[in-house]
Amino acid sequence: MYSITSTKKLHNGIEMPRFGLGVYKMDQPEEAFNSIRKALDTGYIAIDTAAFYKNEQQVGEALRASGKRREEIFITSKVWNTDQGYDETLRAFEKTLTALNTDYLDLYLTHWAVPDKFTETYRAIERVYDEKLLQATGVSNHQIHHLEKLFATANVKPMVNQVELHPYLSQVELREFCQKNDIVITAWSPLGRGRVLQDETIAAIGQKYGKSVAQTIIRWHLQSDHIVIPKSVTPSRIEENANVFDFELTAEDMAAIDALNRNERFGSHPDHFSF
Ligand code: NDP
Repeated sequence: MYSITSTKKLHNGIEMPRFGLGVYKMDQPEEAFNSIRKALDTGYIAIDTAAFYKNEQQVGEALRASGKRREEIFITSKVWNTDQGYDETLRAFEKTLTALNTDYLDLYLTHWAVPDKFTETYRAIERVYDEKLLQATGVSNHQIHHLEKLFATANVKPMVNQVELHPYLSQVELREFCQKNDIVITAWSPLGRGRVLQDETIAAIGQKYGKSVAQTIIRWHLQSDHIVIPKSVTPSRIEENANVFDFELTAEDMAAIDALNRNERFGSHPDHFSF
């Protein structure tokens, strides 16, 4: 069950890869290019970038250098907070396409729910979706109350909500809400930015399968039905993180990792972000 090319069907029928490379903090162009190229050569079929990461250009360059066709790779990007609002988002989307040197995007997200702006931002995302420049609409860092507000003005519900999610922050309520509304969850900081990697319970579980803590966590995400986008600039880890399709955690192992939740965030809280 599951391979590196497994996908999950979004509510508009588009197939989104369940596993991909996150590229936050890859702000050195050469490092970003090399890491993305390494991931594509390893068989990754999805890249998660954002205008804020300042590496959309390297995503496009690595894709072309890899020899893969554009349609083979699922690219997500996001509109940054200072570019939100209707006209601003349309302009930001154009810039993102130019930086990536592509004529369409697979998924475009409102990066954070900027108060008084995020519904207009999403309306602009719907417009580029209607114009067929975008395969799927989505949001990021949206709480239940943001989504409820969005539903009141949206023509089409977002297909994806990308949120901080790892064994120490399992977001049960938000996940249930999204599931009921056909919104697929992507886990950002799936390894807790590396800070869940010292966990002894997960290490002991991984040992039974000959897998590292990172691999065990990634497998927990996959079996929990989250899209998972671990970031690494280390070639051996880029390979290691993709080597998670030859084992399966038991229900007991899954429950033991679920029980580690302590509602601990390593990133900003969506309601308290300093916009
Ligand atoms: P992750 O949870 O993916 O952790 C990345 C860290 O873990 C890096 O320090 C990396 O080190 C290390 N690491 C990766 N693999 C291993 C391994 N096998 N063994 C040991 N250490 C490892 O953190 P991110 O915050 O980067 O989240 C992933 C992606 O989620 C981002 O890149 C971005 O695409 C997205 N994101 C989205 C946000 C949003 O607001 N929508 C916010 C934050 C992230 P090294 O690179 O040195 O190898």
